[in-house]
Amino acid sequence: MKTEQVDVLVIGAGPAGTVAASIIHQAGYKVKIVEKMKFPRFVIGESLLPRSMDALEEAGFIDAIKAKGFQQKYGAKFVKGDALCDFTFQEQYTPGWTWTWQVTRADFDKTLADAVEAMGVPVSYETTVTDIRFNGSDSVTTIEDTAGNKSTIEARFIVDGSGYGRVIPRLFNLEKNSNLQPRKALFAHTVDERRSMADEPNRITAVVHKKGVWIWIIPFSTGVTSVGFVGDPEFFDAYPGTDEEKYRALLEAEPYTRERFRDVELVFEPRILQSWSATTDKFYGDGFVLTGNVTEFLDPIFSSGVTLACVSSQTAAKLVIRKLRGEDVDWEKEYMEPTMQGVNTFRSYVMAWYEGTLDTIFFKKDADPVIKGQICSVLAGYVWDMSNPFVKNHDTALKRLARTIELTEKLKSSSEIE
Ligand code: FAD
Repeated sequence: MKTEQVDVLVIGAGPAGTVAASIIHQAGYKVKIVEKMKFPRFVIGESLLPRSMDALEEAGFIDAIKAKGFQQKYGAKFVKGDALCDFTFQEQYTPGWTWTWQVTRADFDKTLADAVEAMGVPVSYETTVTDIRFNGSDSVTTIEDTAGNKSTIEARFIVDGSGYGRVIPRLFNLEKNSNLQPRKALFAHTVDERRSMADEPNRITAVVHKKGVWIWIIPFSTGVTSVGFVGDPEFFDAYPGTDEEKYRALLEAEPYTRERFRDVELVFEPRILQSWSATTDKFYGDGFVLTGNVTEFLDPIFSSGVTLACVSSQTAAKLVIRKLRGEDVDWEKEYMEPTMQGVNTFRSYVMAWYEGTLDTIFFKKDADPVIKGQICSVLAGYVWDMSNPFVKNHDTALKRLARTIELTEKLKSSSEIE
């Protein structure tokens, strides 16, 4: 069997894999990416956050992405009936990027993979990791191409960016259930001829359809818009027929989407994804680190997935470089804790969204601009800024704020009655 030697083997050519591969390669190490699919390939996750730009910049990808003319994104809008809450990243509290992109992931991921390949990192497409043997931190990985040919890769370190493939957690029984309720998404790309040019396409819109059910609207620069419904799996059972019939009935059932998307042309048949939340006990081990979705993926609301993938890879890559140089790395303190800090901040917001706490905050009239800016920074992905009280106290601050709003409104309405 053929054997190849590298310093670092990266599993997966999604954003997690390519960001890590680029940063480690730039430090002078021999890196190889192994990717199961042929690119371009479809994957969901189309709305980025400004914080991802720091990582994409360090990976040297910004110019290549800019050249593709993806839709620029400047904010996020939330809608519930007649109530509206618009966040503009320029108004955020934490200094940083104030814009990002909305992308078709097939094109975006191919752009990153081509860019890293042009830098000199080989990418083996249609090649699947099937087995890994560790000997201390060194490893021998078995890979298989589509013709069934097997070969091995000897590496000093592995970055597992295999996303939903979860290669190392599956091979080494590190899987753990998420504490989030299972949810389902039904989505498609639409030829959006009745797009509102007043406040779109430069932002994502999240529409509260009913408690626990919401819709994403993500316009692309091509005139196509991604529209997806997310809710409890049982919610979708109430709609009879094929997935397309369900999808069109849902577009019709929501006043915000009804006229714009009536009889809209679909680019592909509506697709379903469900029960996506997953995690593992530990995001590192002797000779490997997990990045991106393999660590933990929560939920599509707040578009945190690609940003957490890019930032975890950016952090991990620098630690891998130090490890290869023979320096000590405290993986728990330097990787697990900051990664969990980001994931847990978003977890509080995801839970507050489904509990309705964020409805109270988002749809309050005359919001305090300082508080709005602080929450806006979380929505921009700056979830490591401990000077932001809505990051530092993410698990209590939202509930406290919602209670204060409710109390003030109660007092106001009782004084109006008197
Ligand atoms: P991926 O992009 O999944 O890349 C992993 C790669 O590894 C794949 O190309 C795969 O083929 C490869 N691979 C897998 N197994 C193997 C193997 N054995 N050998 C070799 N290669 C392998 N995120 C956002 O940021 N914004 C959004 O708007 C958003 N919307 C979402 C909507 C839904 C319904 C869901 C479920 C998720 C959404 N996400 C969103 C999350 C987003 O999809 C992921 O967080 C993101 O794709 C993670 O990137 P990654 O690089 O970790 O993994």
